[in-house]
Amino acid sequence: MDAKHVVEHWAPLEQVAVDWSEAHERCWRCGYRAPLQTCHIVPESLGGTDVVSNLVLLCGRCRREAPTHADPRYLWRWLRATSVSTHDTYWTIRGWAEFEVIFGRKPLECFKEAAVDHGTLNAECRELAADEFAKTVVQFGEAKLNPSTIACVIAEIEKKLADRHGIELP
Ligand SMILES: [Zn+2]
Repeated sequence: MDAKHVVEHWAPLEQVAVDWSEAHERCWRCGYRAPLQTCHIVPESLGGTDVVSNLVLLCGRCRREAPTHADPRYLWRWLRATSVSTHDTYWTIRGWAEFEVIFGRKPLECFKEAAVDHGTLNAECRELAADEFAKTVVQFGEAKLNPSTIACVIAEIEKKLADRHGIELP
């Protein structure tokens, strides 16, 4: 099934993370421009067919997280609840959430007390990011880093910023 047909079918009926004009090239859940897969809403093994009303377009990472349930309402419920409309931020946000799970605190929290200007901190994060991303690798078959790796990058950036500003991390 052609991606355009899937978009044409759903555009008048539903809302997704991206504008319908870009929905053939951006994932309907995370909003990233990525190779999209035509995914069954109800899996084939549960009786789902290739009809357009049983298809959505997702990137590989989102596809692996999508519910594979006999009731198609769950897929849509999940899509509405977890999608973000701001382009290219979804997996960074997931990385921040993963940091909290791994380290038990919010990233950069200790900088709130310190007298470091928010704009300066943002600029320094961006400046350090390139070197930190160079220490990571995208898993085979994936298009982007996963949330746990992004969390590691945030941890490294935080460490360097803490050194620079004389802040002690917990
Ligand atoms: Zn996606």
